[in-house]
Formats: sequence, structure tokens, C-alpha cells
Amino acid sequence: MERAPLLRVRDLQAWYGAAQALHGVSLTVRPGEVLALMGRNGAGKSTTLKAIAGLMARSGGSRHFMGEDIGRWSAHRIARAGLGYVPEERRIFGDLTVLENLEAGRQSPRRWPGGTPLPPWTVQRLFALFPNLGEMPERRGARMSGGEQQMLTVARTLMGQPYLVLLDEPSEGVAPLIVEQMARAVRELKAQGMGILLCEQNLAFAQAVADHVVVLEQGRVVHAGDMAGFMADAALRRRHLGL
Ligand code: ATP
Repeated sequence: MERAPLLRVRDLQAWYGAAQALHGVSLTVRPGEVLALMGRNGAGKSTTLKAIAGLMARSGGSRHFMGEDIGRWSAHRIARAGLGYVPEERRIFGDLTVLENLEAGRQSPRRWPGGTPLPPWTVQRLFALFPNLGEMPERRGARMSGGEQQMLTVARTLMGQPYLVLLDEPSEGVAPLIVEQMARAVRELKAQGMGILLCEQNLAFAQAVADHVVVLEQGRVVHAGDMAGFMADAALRRRHLGL
């Protein structure tokens, strides 16, 4: 039996002032699934994540998270409900240490609707997931590399015990070793049943982690399918991504 979707977005629209950036984006993420949102610069990937996270001043269409209509919820309420968002720009406290940053994200453990507990994220588990962070628990955020800050942002979001995370370009501007840790981390989240929706320009990273792909062009979905099929069709990729 197919599991109920964690996230179901239909006909999503969003505006920056008078300019419409999304013209009807639909997508679904189920537990244990990774969906890669791809497309050229300016296609609307980041805007889609922001609209789902409740951060666009003007939007339309429907967004359901775990069966609840979150379309009118504040960003804060959406995050508290267990929908984590990791923006492109890293969001850490520069004057706090790694441990203090993690503590700042802490929320109580959660259960799935059927009652099964989500394995709670603890500092120990996160240090096992991101060994680099484990080597610098007392390092202040401002003194970390961009890639380390990126890992810390993801780790802090996980301290919120989310059912689903939105990841905006997790591999961008990050050293290869850290990209590898990030890919391993995404696969582990998937293995424990979480849902992941990620924006990604890096095809190799998307291929390494994603089950499904949705390609955007000018705020519209121009392709949706499974990742393996997308990788097998060079002409399709060239048409949509120029790759
Ligand atoms: P990138 O990978 O370059 O971030 P993207 O696919 O994530 O691309 P978005 O950032 O979602 O694309 O941008 C979608 C459209 O919205 C683009 O036309 C962009 O110029 C516009 N846009 C994005 N942010 C703003 C903003 N703050 N104000 C006005 N327009 C914006």
C-alpha cells in the first residue's frame, strides 16, 4: 500500500510584488522519499521552497503537510509542525558554538500519526551523521568554513525533529568531502522514513540521493518523473537543463 504523502502541493503560485514567479507548481513527497527540484537559474526552485515554508508574502494554490492545510499558516507554525527548512543562505548564530547552535534548534521528540516514535535527533547522532561537526563542538559559527556552516544549518534543523526537510542547494559552494557527507546524511534521513525536498543544480548530487525529479522552467513544471529515467534520457536532460 502506498503511504500517505507527507507533503502535497497543488497549483502553487507565488509573487514578488507584482511579478509572478510561480505559475502552478504541483509535487508530492511521501515518507522515505527524496524529490529533487531542478531547473536553470531563476526557474523558481528557491521560491517553491519558500512558499511551502510559509515565507512568501503572496501565494496561491494548495499546500498540505501530513494531511493538514498549511496554506494560511505562519512560517513559525509550519516549522513547529515538523516541516524543516534549510535556506540557501546559511542560518547559524556566528557568536554561538556548534553545541549552542544545536541546542537553539532543539524541539521535543515526535511520533508518526500511527504512534511510532521518530528516532529523536540528539547531538551524538548528529555528530555521527556529520563527523566534521563532531570534531569542533566548541567552535564558534563565525569561525567555520562555508561547508561546515552548511552542515551545522542542516544539523540544527534536524534538532527540530522534522518529518520532512526542505533543502535549498545543500551542495552549493561546498568542498567535495563535505558534499559526500551531505549525500550520506540525506540517504540516512530517507532510510529513517523522513521526506526530503531539495533544490539542486548539481546533477551528480541529485542522482546520488533522489528518487524523483521535478524540473521547473519559468515557474512551471516542465518534467516530473523518476530520477533513474531522467538519468537514462540524455536528450531530456539537455532540453531541460542544458546538460
Ligand atoms: P537560483 O538557483 O538562481 O536561485 P531558482 O530556480 O531558485 O534559481 P528563484 O530564486 O526561485 O529561482 O527565482 C524565481 C524568479 O523569481 C526569478 O525570476 C527571480 O529573478 C525572481 N526572484 C527571486 N527572488 C526575488 C526577490 N527577492 N524579489 C524579486 N524577484 C525575485
